[in-house]
Amino acid sequence: MNDVISADSTLPSAAALAALKAIVGSKGWIDEPDRLEPYLTEERGRFRGRCAAVVRPASTAEVAAVVRICAEARIPIVPQGGNTGLVGGAVPAGGIVIAADRLNRIRELDAINRTVTVEAGVILSDLQAAAAAAGALFPLSLAAEGSCRIGGNLATNAGGIQVLRYGNARDLVLGLEVVLTDGRVWDGLTALRKNNTGYDLKQLFLGSEGTLGIITAAVLKLFPQPKVTETALAAVPSVAAAVDLYRRMGDAAGDALTAFELMARLPVEMCLAHIPGVVDPFDAPHPYYVLMKLTSPRPGDPLREAIESVLGEAFEAETVIDAVIASNEAQAAQLWRMRESIPEAQKSEGGSIKNDISVPISRVPEFIDRASAVATAALPGIRVCAFGHIGDGNIHFNLSQPPGADRATFLADWNRIEGLVSAVAHELGGSFSAEHGVGLLKRGSVQKFKSAVEIDLMRRIKRALDPDGIMNPGKVLPPG
Ligand SMILES: Cc1cc2nc3c(=O)[nH]c(=O)nc-3n(C[C@H](O)[C@H](O)[C@H](O)COP(=O)(O)OP(=O)(O)OC[C@H]3O[C@@H](n4cnc5c(N)ncnc54)[C@H](O)[C@@H]3O)c2cc1C
Repeated sequence: MNDVISADSTLPSAAALAALKAIVGSKGWIDEPDRLEPYLTEERGRFRGRCAAVVRPASTAEVAAVVRICAEARIPIVPQGGNTGLVGGAVPAGGIVIAADRLNRIRELDAINRTVTVEAGVILSDLQAAAAAAGALFPLSLAAEGSCRIGGNLATNAGGIQVLRYGNARDLVLGLEVVLTDGRVWDGLTALRKNNTGYDLKQLFLGSEGTLGIITAAVLKLFPQPKVTETALAAVPSVAAAVDLYRRMGDAAGDALTAFELMARLPVEMCLAHIPGVVDPFDAPHPYYVLMKLTSPRPGDPLREAIESVLGEAFEAETVIDAVIASNEAQAAQLWRMRESIPEAQKSEGGSIKNDISVPISRVPEFIDRASAVATAALPGIRVCAFGHIGDGNIHFNLSQPPGADRATFLADWNRIEGLVSAVAHELGGSFSAEHGVGLLKRGSVQKFKSAVEIDLMRRIKRALDPDGIMNPGKVLPPG
């Protein structure tokens, strides 16, 4: 585990801490070591931080008052949502954590405008449920939805399984409320779908991983609820066949194609071995699988016929070897459980070097071939565990340690192997981080793969909005 504390990390004075505590009261204050612990570590156990206190404001005004004191005393702030991020972005390096969990109100739901105004600390699955209760859909969906929070989703521009149809988190936002680094509040909570009145400021904060300001609320888009849903798992002979099936299904189903996920045989085998209740729906093993979901808000839309027809054609063309269409919700859930259990199953197989890359969809087969060759040459015995959102060109190209290898020694090779895989993605016009962001983990890749012009613009934006560098210092931008 890496310690993120650097020499310039500051611990606030007792007077500053007392002033902060006075704003939020004892209910909004944590400074006991055992209660601080969950805020100092992160999902993958790669980084460990330190902070003087966790501050839990209950309103935007309290966030603003806390930030004003931090600005005056130059106290570093790390905004934290559900702390489910996968790149160490929410790990504190001194100063305080501002936790969003008490900013948890749904302020307004406008069924006609199809929008919801929600505070940053609302848990994603709670928002999904509130939208469903109002007969609408909030489509952002990811395996961490039971604990990640809207502010974190927007700060990381989260993706997930329905990007194909509804876009990334960024595409779901109409307005934002942000506490700036000097404690002023930018009220950009517009619910407008058309608003060409200068720079689109919200885009700066979306995906900025807490380095430019604290998102306190947002106006988000809602959609009609699906009335018809069909889920199918197809066994395919190759990644190229999966891409061919994607094209066929997209041509036939249009925007009804909502999710299209790839799983190689190895991660499926890991699920079968380690996740109770996961079963292989096919009689024989196959090289790759595609899990797809089609949805429509129109009752009676013949999606099942569309899937059957495309799978039939693909079978004739030898693009599909075998397929199963879920006959009820329980079967569909069973298929999704396999896909969503892969990271958990992989943990039982020792260390895993994670690569969250994207390339144009047409280049995914070449990426997987080339990256597999590069990784295997770099470390013989390494096990390629490719899966993910192939319909978005986004593959989780995870690499499990060779059987019997020492976990720590294997993980010590993370940066070298990740660099090789990212270089393949880059050569194919891709990204070294498709949906997880940069945080601490990928700052080196920003330096390596972004142009000098891009890095200069990013630094200028950071300096303009956070001249004293108090907001999530050391994240996203490369050192220097
Ligand atoms: C099992 C699992 C599955 C996942 N699947 C996906 C997936 O499919 N797609 C995907 O994109 N991600 C996925 N993730 C990653 C993670 O869940 C997302 O990045 C999520 O959006 C983070 O939300 P959070 O509330 O946990 O944020 P945190 O982890 O608390 O914070 C993430 C970053 O956002 C900043 N931040 C948090 N709140 C605010 C705020 N209010 N204002 C400003 N900055 C803020 C933090 O400082 C940090 O830099 C997964 C994670 C897990 C554990």
